[in-house]
Amino acid sequence: AHDKLLEEVQKSLEAQGKGKQALSLVVIGGILVETHISLGHVDAGKSTLMGRLLYELGRMDERTRAANERNSTKAGKSSFSWAWSLDGTSEERERGITMDVALESFSTTKRQITVLDAPGHKEFIPNMISGASRADCALLVIDASTGEFESGFERGGQTREHLVLARSLGVAQVIVAINKLDQVQWGKNRYEEICALLRPFLTQSGFHPVKTSFIPIGAMLGVNLVACEGEDAKQLLEWYQGPTLVDLLDKLEPPARDITAPARIPVSNIFKGQGSGISVSGRLLSGVVQVGERLRILPGDETAVVKTIEVEEENVPWVAAGSNAILALVSVDSVQLAIGSVLCPPTNPVPLALTFTARILIFDIQVPIIAGAMVELFHHSRDVPASVSKLIATLDRASGKVVKSNPRVLAKASSAEVQITLRSTGSSTRPIPLEPYAKNKAMGRILIRREGETIAAGIVMEVLG
Ligand code: GDP
Repeated sequence: AHDKLLEEVQKSLEAQGKGKQALSLVVIGGILVETHISLGHVDAGKSTLMGRLLYELGRMDERTRAANERNSTKAGKSSFSWAWSLDGTSEERERGITMDVALESFSTTKRQITVLDAPGHKEFIPNMISGASRADCALLVIDASTGEFESGFERGGQTREHLVLARSLGVAQVIVAINKLDQVQWGKNRYEEICALLRPFLTQSGFHPVKTSFIPIGAMLGVNLVACEGEDAKQLLEWYQGPTLVDLLDKLEPPARDITAPARIPVSNIFKGQGSGISVSGRLLSGVVQVGERLRILPGDETAVVKTIEVEEENVPWVAAGSNAILALVSVDSVQLAIGSVLCPPTNPVPLALTFTARILIFDIQVPIIAGAMVELFHHSRDVPASVSKLIATLDRASGKVVKSNPRVLAKASSAEVQITLRSTGSSTRPIPLEPYAKNKAMGRILIRREGETIAAGIVMEVLG
């Protein structure tokens, strides 16, 4: 029966290949001034960009826009009116910042795009990780206004960290939108200066130049998002005749999806469904799941039955790798279900790990890593206390060959093989579902943080138990 389903899915995806291909996009950027976060001056304009783009594409009606404007003016933040549609919770509205990962979708001529709007503030990096681990491509929004770009780009600034994180989580394509060009009189020199500064850094972060594109925009005025015309675009048109943002989005390539591999869905959110049921949202990393199927919830011994599947606000009979979906589950003990749980077929579960080996790339850290170092381990939407329990070897960054076995410390910018062990929090330590990268790429990526700073990214080699 499963083979028949795969055949059907394959056919449908082929048909989709000729129609609109699904793709998810994480919006990153945001500018951080280390000493103080002064809202309204330090944000790159991600939410404004998305709000305005949705409006131009007809995804936000005039009534909603006008209501947003009224509400944000009432709250004394009129310049945030475009951002209103994405910044959902009242706490976010009061603080004027984007906190959780918001989901929106829109379509271009050839693509159906799900947007994960990742927060730009340092305290919310875990949300950014959760967003980027569900994304295929990134849209990096840069504030071109004088002084702002530099503050976000200097050491410790978030632009660097976000890019490195996104790349470490498997995002290979990026569009760099240079925003707020109205603030710098649409200066071609300013635009080119920023591109020139960013280019080498994108390459160093692992983005291939052919998979990187740059575009000048003015999000608030809606310039060069869907069209580049009219009075507001006049100055930009004096020197720019290139593609619009939507043109570039339309050309993003969805990565290969492995639909024949066993299904894996890390749960990114849980909410109450209809009746006694419970709904979860998450991205299907591999395989196919259909309505009526029983899934195992890991860690734990529970299973659940999929009652309905929702993709892009529509009920569908099945969902294939690459899509973000909402699954309504029945016959389930919700106690077992947590953000970070992984749903998979009972016959082909994900291994559970307390200790595993990983190959990691160490970031630009101040304090070297020694054996026993206490860290936080991030895997999709889950983060758990762990320690770097053994330093197995340092590796050559290019070839991956062992340089030195049993090193005493791991210095910044080096590559290493290490053993990682989960730490207990209270009475017992629960293992987490993890899979070697060689078996399932998306399930095998990890990030390591220490004291609120990401210190390394890596891939799982072997689950030891
Ligand atoms: P986010 O934190 O990156 O989502 O940034 P927001 O979208 O909340 O925008 C931050 C501030 O920048 C708000 O005051 C916006 O009105 C302003 N802003 C956004 N885009 C533009 C633009 O194109 N031009 C100008 N002048 N201001 C902008």
